[in-house]
Amino acid sequence: MIAVMFGPPGSGKGTQASRVATRLGIPHVAAGDMLRNEVARGTDLGREAKPIMDSGGLVPDDLVVRMIDARLNQQDAVKGALLDGFPRTVPQAVTLDRMLTGRGDYVAEVISLEVPDDELLKRILKRADIEGRSDDTSEGFANRLLVYRQDTWPVLDYYRAHGTRIESIDGVGDIDAITERILASLRHNGAVVHS
Ligand code: ADP
Repeated sequence: MIAVMFGPPGSGKGTQASRVATRLGIPHVAAGDMLRNEVARGTDLGREAKPIMDSGGLVPDDLVVRMIDARLNQQDAVKGALLDGFPRTVPQAVTLDRMLTGRGDYVAEVISLEVPDDELLKRILKRADIEGRSDDTSEGFANRLLVYRQDTWPVLDYYRAHGTRIESIDGVGDIDAITERILASLRHNGAVVHS
């Protein structure tokens, strides 16, 4: 099953996607983590991506698409994947559909994590203290939220228009409870959830 974890920066996408992917027995494919890994390794892609990521902007679609396409072609993703941070623009969503159609697959569900803005900022500033991520500044966050509204939010309209199942999940509260809410919705959609 291919599922997409969708939500604003700081919504807990990464945390939830990692837990949910384990329970589904499919890889967690996190675009942001993969890009940070490229930056850490100093690859060409990493060098190009770093200043863009630090400012809270989006890395060009073609670079991200190539990276995700290569990942989905790896053996462990044959059974499916839980995508996190991808697609982040409508062109990325269109390309993903094309990639999946080529494999006889499709996006089975979009999980939309909903968290109010003031809570997002609180979480990002807390994460900045703990993880020291270079884009977790008030300024970087403000830009990421703006980019999210402008470029990423329309991705939900794209899926809605294509009849893809979208599940809105309340992303505030106990981490375990949120995971269970997501798993319940996936189960409802026919996914097999491991204990
Ligand atoms: P968050 O959701 O907290 O903003 P991510 O780890 O998902 O964090 O992404 C961090 C940064 O990586 C983004 O702000 C962006 O610069 C870059 N990035 C991640 N995914 C994509 C994508 N699909 N397309 C373009 N840029 C991306």
